[in-house]
Amino acid sequence: MTPVMQCYKCYGYNHKISECQVPDQMCLHCGDFHSFNQCPRKSSPAICLNCIRSNITNATPHNSVNRECPVHIRLLSRSPSSLTSFIDYCNEHHVDIMIVSEPPIKKQLPNFPSSIVPIFHHTNTIRLSEHVCAF
Ligand SMILES: [Zn+2]
Ligand SMILES: [Zn+2]
Ligand SMILES: [Zn+2]
Repeated sequence: MTPVMQCYKCYGYNHKISECQVPDQMCLHCGDFHSFNQCPRKSSPAICLNCIRSNITNATPHNSVNRECPVHIRLLSRSPSSLTSFIDYCNEHHVDIMIVSEPPIKKQLPNFPSSIVPIFHHTNTIRLSEHVCAF
């Protein structure tokens, strides 16, 4: 699941298909106006529409739905639901202890007794993604 909304017509972020400004279905692989199923360039390197729109030219080739896209990562780290998705992630992967701290915990990680599981410390900041330690 992604906490960042993505349009599956133009593959842009933060809007739905019903709010989309482009006239036709765009290709998640090459960025042209056709669906991926009909893409004639499937064997060529992928082109990310979001990177093109953000003038990012130095990324490794990836398609428009790639979660590693620098545009997606940037949006994700700003998303207010980062904490929610992080908690989901911890539940899914059976992470025993998560610490969310502000300011970030640097080198000395405290030894928590295993009886204190899990620890959720909520803060009122949404800049959580930089301050999350999971182990
Ligand atoms: Zn769109
Ligand atoms: Zn295509
Ligand atoms: Zn990209």
